[in-house]
Amino acid sequence: MKTAGRITAEAILVARDMIREGVTTKQIDDKIRHYIEKCGAKPTFLGYGGFPGSACISVNDEVIHGIPSDKKVLKEGDIVKIDVGAFWHGFTGDSANTFGVGKISKEAQRLIDVTRESFYRGIKAIEETEHPRIGDIGYAVQQYAESSGFSVVRKYVGHGVGHELHEDPQVPNYGTAGRGPRIYPGMTLAIEPMINQGTYDVKELKDGWGVVTADGKLSAHYEHSVAITDDGVILLTKIDGLE
Ligand code: MG
Ligand code: MG
Repeated sequence: MKTAGRITAEAILVARDMIREGVTTKQIDDKIRHYIEKCGAKPTFLGYGGFPGSACISVNDEVIHGIPSDKKVLKEGDIVKIDVGAFWHGFTGDSANTFGVGKISKEAQRLIDVTRESFYRGIKAIEETEHPRIGDIGYAVQQYAESSGFSVVRKYVGHGVGHELHEDPQVPNYGTAGRGPRIYPGMTLAIEPMINQGTYDVKELKDGWGVVTADGKLSAHYEHSVAITDDGVILLTKIDGLE
């Protein structure tokens, strides 16, 4: 899972480095697929439930599951969510990050920063709670995101990850501390706050995949696959150079 995670993270780095005005989300997706295949791995998302891309690339009010397209051209001020998985020797990674195109608004940057920090609040809750439960993660994420003036998407949640992309348990980004399944060493989870600028309500696009905010405001996403160990939480999809 460490190797699958590292390849996943490197693919996100490859994508980040090509984000600029004028690039299409299809061009980014092609590079991601080539990179993952070059590593001897497979893009986990390609063909998953019929998904046509190697990555989900979601722009601005698109929350998740954006289909890469040669018609989607990035422009200055956009925020882009890159969500990738690499399948390697029977295991998959799953990770997402949000990047700005050129100069972005202060509010967009704050949304990205709060989303990332909410993830780390979730990790801290696991590490600092004596017998942590899944609800401790969601509680910490929600407290931080909402006290920063943003909202937490309810309809989509994190999950177990391992041989399969989506395994039990579900890992909501909201909840009650001390509730839900026990978190114990050996578990591998994809923790992934999806944080909105306005309402937490979302709606699905007619393409059958894309999910957008109901009010058209911005959304940010930050995800790592993590392993729970006796010595703490290992971020399997975090590499140097990636915030
Ligand atoms: Mg993901
Ligand atoms: Mg995920």
